[in-house]
Amino acid sequence: MDDCLFCKIAAGDIPASIVYQDDVMIAFEDINPKAPVHTLLIPRQHYHNLSDEIPAELLGELFAKVHTVAALKGIEESVYRIIVNSGVDARQLVQHLHIHVLGGMTLPISAGTVD
Ligand code: 5GP
Ligand code: ZN
Repeated sequence: MDDCLFCKIAAGDIPASIVYQDDVMIAFEDINPKAPVHTLLIPRQHYHNLSDEIPAELLGELFAKVHTVAALKGIEESVYRIIVNSGVDARQLVQHLHIHVLGGMTLPISAGTVD
């Protein structure tokens, strides 16, 4: 999609520190990390958020890859938290579906927000 930050990162038009990529998805470091590990996993195809009609197969592929991303970051043993902000009131700031993968420390108890 034109004018989408994460589409541009997926296309390589905007640089990012890439953790993992394949034909379907790409994982890269969050520019403003909220934990020692804060990686974003996105589908290459543009979807706004979970309110879009996303094929279940794609959702399955993304979620199945979370553990690989965690392993690449070395936090699969200590475990991690994933967050998907979906919509303005959830404080979704970038309008391209993304999974936050957070870890590398004892994460704060919260209602599921990053902070
Ligand atoms: P949201 O609030 O939409 O769930 O999260 C968006 C995330 O994207 C934020 O954690 C923010 O730090 C990250 N982000 C925003 N702009 C950029 C960027 O240009 N590059 C990277 N790598 N991450 C970004
Ligand atoms: Zn996009």
